Amino acid sequence: MPAPPLIGVLAMQGAFREHLRALASCGAEVRAIRDPADLAGLDGLVIPGGESTTMQILLERVGLMDALRDAVRRGLPTLGTCAGMILLARDVTDGREDHRGLEALDIVVQRNGYGRQVDSFEAELDVEGLDSRFPGVFIRAPVVLEAGSAEVLAEHEGRPVALRQGRIMALSFHPELSGDLRLHGEFLKLVRGMGKS
Ligand code: GLN
Repeated sequence: MPAPPLIGVLAMQGAFREHLRALASCGAEVRAIRDPADLAGLDGLVIPGGESTTMQILLERVGLMDALRDAVRRGLPTLGTCAGMILLARDVTDGREDHRGLEALDIVVQRNGYGRQVDSFEAELDVEGLDSRFPGVFIRAPVVLEAGSAEVLAEHEGRPVALRQGRIMALSFHPELSGDLRLHGEFLKLVRGMGKS
């Protein structure tokens, strides 16, 4: 049996505990990431949902922003969900004036793009690679305005909600809150180099 992969979950703020639990249930070793030294030896990284503006401030404060940029750009397999997708994006609209993220994924997103009246909703999604629909939990989710060179894995009402580019996966919804572990499983396949490239 190969050793389980070690997956770090960025633990500044937001839904990191749920990701740690979901990944552990899928058989991964997990580590909460709070400062640059925690990145050593990781096989994969998850950037959770939460509030991207707050995460940006906290990441800069602890010196993790540049360390994460380097790690993700060097090819560390990474899953970003909701606010995590915003932090991975090449460009963000309706963000802070001084928005600065990792610019690792060739997409443009609009923060809170699904609008106030539908702040939160659930939708059944057809996701590439899964054999039945996935329950998508959307909470003040970003809208993907441009998918750039990323592959679209799922759409909701004509907009991409799951994407992949190389070793980076991004979801505008919260798979860790749905009780369905299949997308964490897909990410672990990517980490193990078993996902299609
Ligand atoms: N609206 C949040 C942001 O802009 C994202 C919401 C979420 O992660 N559930 O960061």
